[in-house]
Amino acid sequence: MVITTDDLETTCPNCKGSGKEDRLPCPKCSGKGVILTGQGNTLLHFIKKHLHE
Ligand SMILES: [Zn+2]
Repeated sequence: MVITTDDLETTCPNCKGSGKEDRLPCPKCSGKGVILTGQGNTLLHFIKKHLHE
């Protein structure tokens, strides 16, 4: 299985990827300009869970 970054994160629809809203960090993506997809969240959850074991 191949996972690309496009599978894990997607351009934030709120700021269109700029990471800013009214010169402040975009609240939807915390200024990153991208948001996690469902698959990204799943993978993040998996990694965090296993890091704590
Ligand atoms: Zn944003």
